[in-house]
Amino acid sequence: LDVVAGVEPRIAAAIGQEIEDQRASLKLIASENYASPAVLLAMGNWLSDKYAEGTAGRRFYAGCRNVDTVETLAAEHARALFGADHAYVQPHSGIDANLTAFWAVLSQRVESPALERAKVRNVNDLTEQDWAQLRHELGNQRMLGMSLDTGGHLTHGFRPNISGKMFEQRSYGTDPATGLIDYDALRETAREFRPLILVAGYSAYPRRVNFRKMREIADEVGATLMVDMAHFAGLVAGKVFTGDHDPVPHAQIVTTTTHKSLRGPRGGMVLSTAELAEHVDRGCPLVLGGPLSHVMAAKAVAFAEARRPEFQAYARAVVDNARALAEGLLRRGGKLVTGGTDNHLVLADVSGYGLTGRQAEAALLDSGIVTNRNSVPQDPNGAWYTSGVRLGTPALTTRGLGAAEMDEIAALIDTVLRATSPAPTSGGAPSRAQYTLDESLRDGIAKRAADL
Ligand code: PLP
Repeated sequence: LDVVAGVEPRIAAAIGQEIEDQRASLKLIASENYASPAVLLAMGNWLSDKYAEGTAGRRFYAGCRNVDTVETLAAEHARALFGADHAYVQPHSGIDANLTAFWAVLSQRVESPALERAKVRNVNDLTEQDWAQLRHELGNQRMLGMSLDTGGHLTHGFRPNISGKMFEQRSYGTDPATGLIDYDALRETAREFRPLILVAGYSAYPRRVNFRKMREIADEVGATLMVDMAHFAGLVAGKVFTGDHDPVPHAQIVTTTTHKSLRGPRGGMVLSTAELAEHVDRGCPLVLGGPLSHVMAAKAVAFAEARRPEFQAYARAVVDNARALAEGLLRRGGKLVTGGTDNHLVLADVSGYGLTGRQAEAALLDSGIVTNRNSVPQDPNGAWYTSGVRLGTPALTTRGLGAAEMDEIAALIDTVLRATSPAPTSGGAPSRAQYTLDESLRDGIAKRAADL
């Protein structure tokens, strides 16, 4: 940090403070983790300075032999780890991976007379009329994804996201009584809507998904099944999600981030069948420019780590810890969406404490417990204030915490939420954002959180 401080001390201070903050609090953000020193060091080096547009062995830049090695190894490790035919390791993020996947399916599936006429990959051979026709053909396709308010991600067709603008979209949700995906209702919607792409996967659904069933539905209506396993890739890699719950044998295309439960660097990846490989590899120049060579190196290291038996023990512990946390909250009277968990996350409905998700998030943060507010299905408080907080165990499990600590953390969370109340607004009505909490109680909890 001294080297950084010599150039811009405020950045060095922010980095140092971030390390302090992370050490002094309990990180329960379900999408975060702690990457290993090997992953961090593979990322912080001179590969960052290299341009390498193209794919390994087919570059638009000279001097790419080391990047070729890095990209080839990252893809080899990914294929072996997940048992996939093909791995494309360039996407800079989960959103890039999803965009790459959407366009791969469009270019594979949409019959485009304009492209057929051109019969070449040289875009200069397309006329203006061809382009207009192509825009029309590609722009009128349908996507069916999980709704944001029942746990889907914004890239699964949410209107303000590009996916909701690129596609005519519709969403499926969960059964209001159980909180579980209603496969029969999903099948009905798919039959009626007949999407080109059926997207499975989630950011805030605390249960496993049956990908065999999803594929059956996709096949029945002629859709391509795309699974976004960003949240649970570590549980697939660690062989906790197998059989019907492993997306790779069932979906034609699988996307992921690499930095969540998979514990790699911040980035994305696309896995696919052999038939889709050539379309997926067109991510550059379709969606991406130069790949982040240093991040691909860190992905290779993370995948190599995930192939070790220790990672399987880690993935099992992540799920055991989430269950212990859920049981700890339930035992103390907490309310959980779906009544529990069988993955790495718990979605607590905090309305029973008389709080919004925003108040719960803020009170917990000030008490050293970092979570994020999240809508619950049919949330009366909307997506900004919300009625829930999402809790995840990947990061604390990396730190070595186990079931006993999870139970204690459940007790700390329950204590904070019981002691917190909405602050009155100037008009006297309870605020949806501000809260009050006894300072000595808050500081006592924060001290215990730091000790843990
Ligand atoms: N897909 C899912 C299911 C996610 O939960 C996320 C991130 O939260 C993303 C995609 C996007 O990943 P990124 O933030 O790397 O773009």
